[in-house]
Amino acid sequence: MLQVTNLTKRYRGLTALDNVSFHIQPGEILGYLGPNGSGKSTTVKIITGLLDPSDGEVRLHGRTLLDDPIAFKSSLGYVPEEPQLYTHLTGAEYLVFIARLRQIPFNSAVRRAADLLKLFQLHDARNSPMSTYSKGMRQRVLLASALLHDPQLLILDEPFSGLDVNAALLLRTLLETLAAEGKMILFSSHVLEVVEKVCSRVVILYKGKVVLQDSIENLKDSRSPDLQEVFAQVTQQEDYAPIASAILKAVRQ
Ligand code: ADP
Ligand code: MG
Repeated sequence: MLQVTNLTKRYRGLTALDNVSFHIQPGEILGYLGPNGSGKSTTVKIITGLLDPSDGEVRLHGRTLLDDPIAFKSSLGYVPEEPQLYTHLTGAEYLVFIARLRQIPFNSAVRRAADLLKLFQLHDARNSPMSTYSKGMRQRVLLASALLHDPQLLILDEPFSGLDVNAALLLRTLLETLAAEGKMILFSSHVLEVVEKVCSRVVILYKGKVVLQDSIENLKDSRSPDLQEVFAQVTQQEDYAPIASAILKAVRQ
């Protein structure tokens, strides 16, 4: 189980995360929702060890990152929102490189990389430098690289940006399969439609605070048939229609 307890992160003056707690059980896909700037990426970066929290802790199967950093990190796969890819490498080279960093023996690394490239429909492009890849292709390479070592916890930060419809469907099916195998998945997104279909439970974050935490079923039953409305309610979104028309008016003058 992943346990996040009272996580707080302050960036100088700003409290980006304020006492955030949630957990993910094996077999569960947790939707981590919130508008831009609500603290999703900050949370994810703390869980993966890229950032230190100001307060609170993260435990995976009862252990913190500091207990055993290598074991902790090898239990998780992470697809960042703003990836840093070595674009001079080909897709195949990159995956083998990552697999080797993950201490997968060379022969297995080559085999797994080839298999994943096929599954993610990158076989034809496998020997081209990633600088020639589209955004969606890069995203698929990142997904493949996060799965290479078969992690127990998969963390996806806005994974559907740049994916076309087919790739998105593949990802959805893949997540469901992984969950059925007992993996834990943290799915961070500001897009509700996808989360609604894939996740069993959601945490909604607003200005660094958890404003709602419930199962998708309950949300649908108790509040509104449309999760979009629930989201708007709890995050107190403004009515953007007048702002949108003002912007359009301004650019058309
Ligand atoms: P989200 O991923 O939900 O869009 P983030 O976690 O990226 O939100 O950001 C949460 C808040 O923290 C935002 O107000 C953002 O401007 C701020 N923030 C994020 N990273 C930094 C940083 N390195 N330094 C200062 N403020 C930051
Ligand atoms: Mg983000």
